[in-house]
Amino acid sequence: MEAERDLIIIGGGIAGLAAAQYGARANLKVLVLEEMAAGGQIVPVTDLENYPGFPEPIDGFELSRRFEEQALKFGAEFETWSARSLRKEKGLFVVETDRDSLRSASVIVATGAKHRKLGVPGEEELGGRGVSYCATCDGPFFRGKPMLVVGGGDAACDEAMFLSKLSERVLMIHRRDRFRAQRSLAERVLANKNIEVRFNTEIKEIQGNERVEKVLLQDNAKGKEYTEEVAAVFVFIGSIPQTQVLQDVALDEGGYILTDTRMETNVKGLFAAGDVRSTPFRQLVVAAAEGAIAAHSASQYIDELRGEAYL
Ligand code: NAP
Repeated sequence: MEAERDLIIIGGGIAGLAAAQYGARANLKVLVLEEMAAGGQIVPVTDLENYPGFPEPIDGFELSRRFEEQALKFGAEFETWSARSLRKEKGLFVVETDRDSLRSASVIVATGAKHRKLGVPGEEELGGRGVSYCATCDGPFFRGKPMLVVGGGDAACDEAMFLSKLSERVLMIHRRDRFRAQRSLAERVLANKNIEVRFNTEIKEIQGNERVEKVLLQDNAKGKEYTEEVAAVFVFIGSIPQTQVLQDVALDEGGYILTDTRMETNVKGLFAAGDVRSTPFRQLVVAAAEGAIAAHSASQYIDELRGEAYL
């Protein structure tokens, strides 16, 4: 059995696009499978302020388009199909898509993660207008204004600490009576004078016309509902890594893919990059860098194969 491709990249977000560019430029025969538009999560973001090299905010769609153009320029191919499953067979990877079966010598999984949503009224309607899932991206828009953070894990605590540098009025609510976050981080949050923590509190509704104006909260200890005026709601209640296509790949406790520093998983020739990978800082620049490392490692892996059996 022969591989039609050297490298298949599953997922055309920033990690996948960076991997495609680096892979194709290293002379690999690269195919990117993306079920939607290239760019992934950043496509709807209008003002990306923190991607290095762009002192003026850049539109997410435009940045992805440039990544894609660069990958195409070096010869990467793109197909708009969903990968349904992935398996290794006689040393090659077989990717089943909605249309057919594809074989490749190596694979990079760059399928990303979806933010877990609250599912309360107002969350969808005010998305991008005060409801956010990324403090680093959107916090600066609400500098000096009251903000709400929902969640009790490491991400919520980390992001609340970040927001406390932008505003003296960060309210943080968590549904239970203690944080899930690491003790040292939780203690820093509790000691921060700009963060007010309310435990046993849930959010029932996000309200506002054009943008977030207030939230309806429920104090579960006292059994009463009340409203708070806030300009933004930052939701950090975990995320859902998109690993459905994988079998026998080692994951961390949160379901993210474990890799070594070369981005290789426990399966030889299978790499992961971006938000689907177990990583402490999920940012565009990190995803791009991980994509580049994964493609470089895939290229080395293929060189090794060529020295032995491949071709
Ligand atoms: P997480 O650890 O799963 O925490 C999610 C938090 O959201 C929990 O406190 C949970 O409450 C709460 N929650 C879940 N569903 C909810 C709902 N429907 N309504 C209200 N609250 C809800 O997720 P994470 O904080 O995103 O972290 C994910 C992984 O990345 C973890 O392994 C974490 O250690 C790692 N991480 C590490 C760092 C760091 O080391 N600095 C930073 C970020 C993330 P309960 O506690 O009641 O379950």
